[in-house]
Amino acid sequence: MAEKVRGKGVISGIAMGKIMLAGQNLDGYLVNYKPEAKETEKQKAQAAITAVAENLRESIEQMKKDDMAEQAAILEAHRMMIQDPMMAQNIETKVEELGNAPRAVLKAAEEQAQMFEQMEDDYFAARAVDLRDVGKRVAKYILGVKEPEIGNEKVVLCGHEIEPSVIAGMPTDKIAGVLLGAGSTTCHAVIIAKSRAIPTIVGLDKENRIDKIADGDRVIIDGERGEVTINPDEEEVAAYEAKFKKQQELAAHYAALRDLPGETTDGVRVDLMANIGTHMDVENALNYGAEGVGLFRSEFVFMGREDIPTEEDQFKAYKQAVEKCAGKLCVIRTMDIGGDKPLPYLNIPHEDNPFLGYRAVRISLQRRDLFLPQLKAILRAGVYGKAAIMIPMIINVAEFKKVKEFVEEAKVELAHEGKAYADNVQVGIMVETPAAAIMTPVFAKYVDFFSIGTNDLCQYTLAVDRGNANISYLYNHFNPAVLRLIKRTVESARENGIWAGMCGEMASDPHAAVLLMAMGMNELSMSAPSIPRVKEQLRSISSVKAKEILTKVMQMEDGDEIKAYLDQVL
Ligand code: PEP
Ligand code: MG
Repeated sequence: MAEKVRGKGVISGIAMGKIMLAGQNLDGYLVNYKPEAKETEKQKAQAAITAVAENLRESIEQMKKDDMAEQAAILEAHRMMIQDPMMAQNIETKVEELGNAPRAVLKAAEEQAQMFEQMEDDYFAARAVDLRDVGKRVAKYILGVKEPEIGNEKVVLCGHEIEPSVIAGMPTDKIAGVLLGAGSTTCHAVIIAKSRAIPTIVGLDKENRIDKIADGDRVIIDGERGEVTINPDEEEVAAYEAKFKKQQELAAHYAALRDLPGETTDGVRVDLMANIGTHMDVENALNYGAEGVGLFRSEFVFMGREDIPTEEDQFKAYKQAVEKCAGKLCVIRTMDIGGDKPLPYLNIPHEDNPFLGYRAVRISLQRRDLFLPQLKAILRAGVYGKAAIMIPMIINVAEFKKVKEFVEEAKVELAHEGKAYADNVQVGIMVETPAAAIMTPVFAKYVDFFSIGTNDLCQYTLAVDRGNANISYLYNHFNPAVLRLIKRTVESARENGIWAGMCGEMASDPHAAVLLMAMGMNELSMSAPSIPRVKEQLRSISSVKAKEILTKVMQMEDGDEIKAYLDQVL
């Protein structure tokens, strides 16, 4: 039996490949490097910065042409880091101190990365990896180190931290999996892997498990269980092949469900939609059978760039998404910046409680220079299909009334400017605060729809930070308090003749989907690969049976009990 190590599986799927250690060690090169006069070293550093920035620019252009906008945005952020005048200044000071260009570059990047890490903020901690990546790229250029060559065999990338650019720069069909010592679901390496559905395990630094894995080792990885089998024996390979075959069969089985509706055995329908971050995700979503987009997280249009995207930039992004939905609904959420998604160029001062702070619609309502162009861009995109506007983090009706005034103003401006726009774009809210959920009977008179954001609704209702692993056992979407707020929201919608959906992660839980359908929810929006499982569950039950289950569940007193009951009956 081969040795096995365990980490935390963050992207499911099984895969086999040869380990390629990513995040090269430059120590040997640094020892052999012969520095010249300080002035020459400074020039070398400067020349390397210019050359690496230019290489990045070329890669970014190519990625944009290849419809890889997310990867392009990350490399664009790297290009900005390299060209940051403060970075250049730091490097010059370090060359003066060390008299060695590559060491100076690495030290300057390391110091800046450590500053980020000390910010006690997951987002900035993750950016520290990007900074080290950038420093390494420049140092490698000075040292003349080539990037690793990729052969014909599929590789499993493995490293304590893998530079996002390494994954972004490799062809998808060459990466079987990703293993990370550190890392989290929000680090850029994982974000890129997720958009490509690459099985990924993080957290292998714990007890130095990662040190057991060597370059060139053959491994089997299980992204669901977080398990790595190092140099498997014949029996293990055979077992893997059988499982892999099943994975392929399941994929084929799900593919066959693609064009079938999310409908119970007695004909109650729920629209199954996709959550997307860029217009490029639409095609993939439709392939999984999405009946439209229930959440376009527009903040991604604002991230990974130096300044606020113009109305025109945004119009292009939304228009493409709406067009690709081909007449199906495309719900565009207005910018949800703040919380765990800061935007450096907005210069939001430090907050002790960013999740309870200046975020989402609170920023939009104070910043007409941001909000009005965004609304205009969405209204214009509406001409190319069926767009809807969705407002995040609403807590009271007054906020929504102000939003509606902005929407009217956007229309007036567009009319003055002679730009075509859709007049019938629906405007709805996310129900992701207890305040909004409790007040849904009132909100329902003003809004066109509700979409429940359970990621935040659970966090705010249960007072459980959605990113805190120590208390994640309390974060349960079946907690009766959460279920009651959801039920109330759906009832308010039905009583007032508007539709109610859900775009939080709960929607991708097949057992939850049964309850939500029984409550009368019209739409569920989720990450596209989850659609087939939810669809299969809905198609296997009658609405009558589901209502019986719901009645029992609503009488139960404890979230864990509800979860166990659903596992048993479904
Ligand atoms: C939610 O809160 O459920 C949601 C969908 O929004 P986000 O995860 O982007 O905060
Ligand atoms: Mg939210």
